[in-house]
Amino acid sequence: MKVIDCIKQAKSTLFSIEILPPLKGKSIQSIFDGIDPLMEFKPSFVDVTYHREEYLYKKRDGGYLEKVSIRKRPGTVGICAAIINKYHVDAVPHIICGGFSREETENALIDLHFLGIDNVLALRGDSIKSESEFIPEPNGHAHAVDLIKQMEQMNRGRYIEDDLADVSPTNFCIGVAGYPEKHSEAPNMVSDIKFLKAKIDAGAEYIVTQMFFDNAKYFEFVKKCREMDIHVSIIPGLKILTTKKQATLLPKVFNIDIPQALLEEIEKCKTDAEVKEAGIEWCINQSKELIQQKAPCLHYYTMGTSETTRRVASKVF
Ligand code: FAD
Repeated sequence: MKVIDCIKQAKSTLFSIEILPPLKGKSIQSIFDGIDPLMEFKPSFVDVTYHREEYLYKKRDGGYLEKVSIRKRPGTVGICAAIINKYHVDAVPHIICGGFSREETENALIDLHFLGIDNVLALRGDSIKSESEFIPEPNGHAHAVDLIKQMEQMNRGRYIEDDLADVSPTNFCIGVAGYPEKHSEAPNMVSDIKFLKAKIDAGAEYIVTQMFFDNAKYFEFVKKCREMDIHVSIIPGLKILTTKKQATLLPKVFNIDIPQALLEEIEKCKTDAEVKEAGIEWCINQSKELIQQKAPCLHYYTMGTSETTRRVASKVF
């Protein structure tokens, strides 16, 4: 079922999760081990992230350094197919602009279409570490909105080669990312939401937010989106804070704030085990308030571990 139909048919707030493909060489069993304990909460869909290539320098015989391209977490599409097959639950592959030409994107979308996967989350992706800003592939997309336009064209049966006969239109339900605390590169919130609206106008049907720890930021974001004529469902993305280090790392990586009250709780903790308990408690309270305020779905970033998400879900679903 399409994510948007799950939301339309829901009588209460839905539960969904996001997982990362395992590191290259690891078994898919680690994915199943992560999902199994969460199935009792009936996730409406499972998002699977996409990880583009990175460049590393490897020391070769003779001491010279060779620049090699590696993908640490391949397998997004295969994992989605395996999840659908094993759990009969909808899987949402993340599709990014970075590293893809338009032709490669088209071919990836044809694979999904053939597999019967009709949900996608369309993203630009971040710049690779060796680049100071995002650089699209030659003939690739510079922004998520351009990727959505390509998907929409395919939904209308229009492929890059415009002289194909008897084409089969795709049927993608497209989700996009939104940022309650603003995307790091956006000059201000109004500009960021204007570009978010362009993604909706291009055909995206719902928004999943970046993680946030202060519900007030989400409520304010939803209000601003509505004021700027965005009326699709805005799904809050939630992460459970589990280590002291994350209190400084997450703001840097995701351009978000840690609320002072949460920071004070973390500072009281002597060990990361205690931080995890505080993080779970915080997320339970966040979740309860979001449900009370009728958020369409709570989307948990599991980051490869299900235990904390299971503990939160068991208190709120
Ligand atoms: P865009 O919508 O293209 O926006 C990027 C920036 O450009 C913003 O500052 C925006 O304001 C601005 N902008 C947008 N359109 C235009 C325009 N037409 N002209 C000028 N400026 C414009 N990354 C991955 O690599 N893999 C994943 O699986 C992944 N999953 C994610 C899931 C969620 C829910 C979220 C919130 C993020 C995810 N990311 C993922 C990270 C995401 O790719 C980065 O945050 C990236 O920097 C921006 O992606 P976007 O789709 O929001 O980009």
